[in-house]
Amino acid sequence: MTEEWTQTWRKAVVAGSREVGRGCRLLQVEFTDDLPFPFQPGHVVVLRHDGHRHPYTVSQADPARRILGLLFRIIPGGRLTPSLAAAAPGTPMEVSGLHHEPVATLIAPEAREVVGLSTGSGIGPLWGFAERSLAAGFDRPITLFAGYREAADICLVPELDALQAAHPGFRWHPSLTQPPEAWTGLRGRVGHSAPPLIQAPRACHFHLVGNGTMLAEMKAALALIGVPGPQVTSEVFFNHNAEAEPGTVQAIADRFKDETGVP
Ligand SMILES: Cc1cc2nc3c(=O)[nH]c(=O)nc-3n(C[C@H](O)[C@H](O)[C@H](O)COP(=O)(O)OP(=O)(O)OC[C@H]3O[C@@H](n4cnc5c(N)ncnc54)[C@H](O)[C@@H]3O)c2cc1C
Repeated sequence: MTEEWTQTWRKAVVAGSREVGRGCRLLQVEFTDDLPFPFQPGHVVVLRHDGHRHPYTVSQADPARRILGLLFRIIPGGRLTPSLAAAAPGTPMEVSGLHHEPVATLIAPEAREVVGLSTGSGIGPLWGFAERSLAAGFDRPITLFAGYREAADICLVPELDALQAAHPGFRWHPSLTQPPEAWTGLRGRVGHSAPPLIQAPRACHFHLVGNGTMLAEMKAALALIGVPGPQVTSEVFFNHNAEAEPGTVQAIADRFKDETGVP
């Protein structure tokens, strides 16, 4: 049964806001009510501000300070995000929800590894999931592949590097569609660059976040190579009705090293 408090508009204020990649901000929203705070990375809340409202996926949740961290991309000319970006600490916000499931509860118990794939601000909940799970002793390897256009767009570099330095089981790889000449990292769309690095796809749980086109193509490719359905979960931010083009799906499937999965 849906809890009544999830249906109400709750009072909150901006506790902080900082740029974590070009055009991407981590917004901290502090609840000023005394209603429950059961949020985890991957839950979705709806923000209402300046006459507009949109859903955002929780990246971080701090129950002691009652603060949510939400990573969002500023859409030039967008209805809500330019005013969200301009909101100074202390600005009132309204929040409703919680919706969807935390990433941690979606992970199939039988999966030996977790692979996260994101475009743009989709890295937020994957980072938050990894940070929280690793701190709690999660013992399966986690690898994140994050797609962007240019190097300046890459989000949360110090945070993800620190997580990688602290946890041998955690790796992350940005992939750029417009890399500088000297770039030594992954090149191309994340759906293109990640598959050759995933050794045993049928033993992995995939969580995909961001652009509906990437999600539709990757989901279809994973189905094609035999990754079981419960091992693929996702959160679409935009392009909800994207359809996967069969040629692209086959090309992605072909880039997985071992189409049979488990070695
Ligand atoms: C379940 C769910 C969770 C979401 N979680 C997040 C989140 O954690 N972070 C986040 O940045 N967005 C998230 N979104 C998208 C968010 O709700 C808004 O659609 C977005 O912030 C647009 O705001 P706007 O009013 O400024 O733009 P609008 O005036 O509504 O313009 C929308 C345009 O922006 C495009 N767009 C929407 N979101 C993005 C995006 N993230 N990156 C690039 N282009 C986009 C749309 O395709 C459309 O063309 C989520 C959406 C859903 C459905």
